[in-house]
Amino acid sequence: MPKYVVGHLTTVAAVEAALAERPTWRIAGSALRGVGVPDCIADGRRATVAALAAVETARVG
Ligand SMILES: Cc1cc2nc3c(=O)[nH]c(=O)nc-3n(C[C@H](O)[C@H](O)[C@H](O)COP(=O)(O)OP(=O)(O)OC[C@H]3O[C@@H](n4cnc5c(N)ncnc54)[C@H](O)[C@@H]3O)c2cc1C
Repeated sequence: MPKYVVGHLTTVAAVEAALAERPTWRIAGSALRGVGVPDCIADGRRATVAALAAVETARVG
């Protein structure tokens, strides 16, 4: 089980910003925005929608 520390959301934002150079890559799960199953499902859905949109953008150009 992850244990978040002060500044956790800033760290998450930095990690996601670092992924900007790989726009079709997304991360999700309990290490990010909540450890509960509903949090993980919401995070997975959010990441999936974003990844599919990025793939579509890359495909269409
Ligand atoms: C004992 C316990 C009880 C809990 N009870 C509740 C509860 O009642 N209600 C609630 O809302 N939450 C509960 N939680 C929290 C919740 O279950 C977790 O936070 C949530 O399941 C995490 O989801 P996840 O997808 O981030 O990670 P996980 O569910 O851990 O999924 C990670 C997956 O990645 C796989 N994996 C890992 N490394 C690799 C690798 N190198 N290559 C390929 N696959 C890999 C693993 O096998 C696993 O299938 C509980 C947690 C624990 C430990």
